[in-house]
Amino acid sequence: MIPFIDLTRQHAALREELGAAVARVLDSGQFVLGAEGKTLERELAALCGVRWALGVASGTDALRLALSALGVGPGAEVITPAFSFVASASTILMVGATPVFVDIDPATYALDVAAAERAITPRTRAIMPVHLYGHPAPMDRVVELARAHRLAVIEDAAQAVGGAWAGRPVGAWGDAACFSFYPTKNLGACGDAGMVVTDRSDVAERVTRLRHHGDSGRYQHVELGFCSRLDEVQAAVLRVKLVRLATWTEARRRIAARYRALLAGVPLDLPTEAAKARHVYHLFTVRHPQRDTLAKALTEGGVGTAVYYPRSVPDQPMFGGDERRWPEASRAAREVLSLPCFAELSDDEIERVAAAVRHACERS
Ligand SMILES: *Cc1c(COP(=O)(O)O)cnc(C)c1O
Repeated sequence: MIPFIDLTRQHAALREELGAAVARVLDSGQFVLGAEGKTLERELAALCGVRWALGVASGTDALRLALSALGVGPGAEVITPAFSFVASASTILMVGATPVFVDIDPATYALDVAAAERAITPRTRAIMPVHLYGHPAPMDRVVELARAHRLAVIEDAAQAVGGAWAGRPVGAWGDAACFSFYPTKNLGACGDAGMVVTDRSDVAERVTRLRHHGDSGRYQHVELGFCSRLDEVQAAVLRVKLVRLATWTEARRRIAARYRALLAGVPLDLPTEAAKARHVYHLFTVRHPQRDTLAKALTEGGVGTAVYYPRSVPDQPMFGGDERRWPEASRAAREVLSLPCFAELSDDEIERVAAAVRHACERS
């Protein structure tokens, strides 16, 4: 069986270094918002080309705190794509605002900027593009639209650390950008962790306060905040991995190129990479009208696959289960299938996956 993802391979190769990093934290006696976290924040800010990065407890919290820090709250509308992980929209609800769903561009899965423009109302306060599967949203156009209407931009960059649009890193475009270090993400902790990056000092200050009970320093609690801090063990683990991120991203891009070559001519839609995009292939996602049949054939052929996501966000019961207004999001939910794509996948495995896909598609 070729696994869809196997984190044990990555951790086996880093075992000694990870152990030493955790030991360093144990010896320091400092476990929350300490030196490891501060260094990781500097390193991630540098990667994104911005001045600040603030470690928080998860990618979800990064979104929630970034929204609050930008003043998004009750009465506000936030435009977000109808096809994403649920947290892109649920965090908008968490701050008391209203998600306004727009359909996606079926080629890149990014929000359709023209649809976003049509969705703007006097109550719109922000746009939250999602760099789904590691393919950046068209940030030049998103930022241009936001500027014209005085809207904030919050990048949901949970799946796209290390990616870029028009040569500029994801995370550097928005008023704030949010990363997740959930274990299966391209840069994954051994537990939950996340980060907000921003070039705005006011946003950095407010996130710093919000992640720690609204404390402006020395137990002066100036607003209602949260308890959402990055712990030192996760920060130390992430620092060990961050120095490998560029190599791992290259490996993912090579796997994608290999799949493209091996699957040429197969009746199946392969992922596109827009001319301005540097795709980091968090997922290598194909689409097929008989997706479930294909997935079953691949499982029987010994290939692990996964569906991200089987429902559009507005089609989720918590959002009312309505899918008709976002036809491309709904079609994506029916057709997408992700193939194994992680740095430690061997050449032989890539070839076996491609052969199984070719066999299944040519038979159906
Ligand atoms: C993973 C993810 C999140 C949430 O991150 P967590 O760390 O799991 O809270 C948000 N948005 C997208 C697109 C994600 O993939």
